[in-house]
Amino acid sequence: MGYNVAIDGPAGAGKSTIAKLVAKEKGYVYVDTGAMYRGLAVHFLEEGIQADNAEQIAEACRDVEVTIRYENGQQQVYLNGENITSRLREEAVGNMASRCSAIPAVRAKLLELQQKLAETQDVIMDGRDIGTCVLPHADVKIFLTASVDTRARRRYDELKTKGADCDFREIREDIVERDRRDSTREIAPLKQAEDAILLDSSEMSIAEVVAAILALCR
Ligand code: C5P
Repeated sequence: MGYNVAIDGPAGAGKSTIAKLVAKEKGYVYVDTGAMYRGLAVHFLEEGIQADNAEQIAEACRDVEVTIRYENGQQQVYLNGENITSRLREEAVGNMASRCSAIPAVRAKLLELQQKLAETQDVIMDGRDIGTCVLPHADVKIFLTASVDTRARRRYDELKTKGADCDFREIREDIVERDRRDSTREIAPLKQAEDAILLDSSEMSIAEVVAAILALCR
């Protein structure tokens, strides 16, 4: 069994930024589970399936293959053998991922893949249900959050830096809606595991959050 660190939390809490830095410092493999949901979402979009058609989505899950490879230390997502990593951050993909992640067939498809990755190597894995469902016996569990305004502000600044034309209110509404969907779904909802440590990064710098997590790791 590898050493497992689980980081869960709502959209825009900074999980991936923090997890990447901890992974680098400790030599863990960083596993971004959201990218896997996004990978399946690319497939559903390519197939022209609507997010609310649970039956078709379950059917489409049957013969699709999502695999993860690490190239130069970076996680790459392959869909039926094709590297689709560059498409994962598209807005339509994020939307589809958020909607279809409530469908049991989608979660079942990715659960085993995620657990396998943590079996033989030291990982820091981020998502929504890592501490509660995917790795219930993780060595360290963190629930990383921040206020909605802080998370929306960070996302807005990030998009602005990339030169995107964006609206703060729309971003904030989108985050609230994603949180609502993630926390109210029946299967594997977003919630803090009982044995997870809560970190609210609203008033913390990236370095402070990383240091707090490093102090909890072996
Ligand atoms: O974290 P990220 O925004 O990349 O995740 C995309 C979507 O995948 C989220 O909106 C969430 O609904 C879903 N997800 C999930 N469980 C995970 C990781 C992501 O339901 N462990």
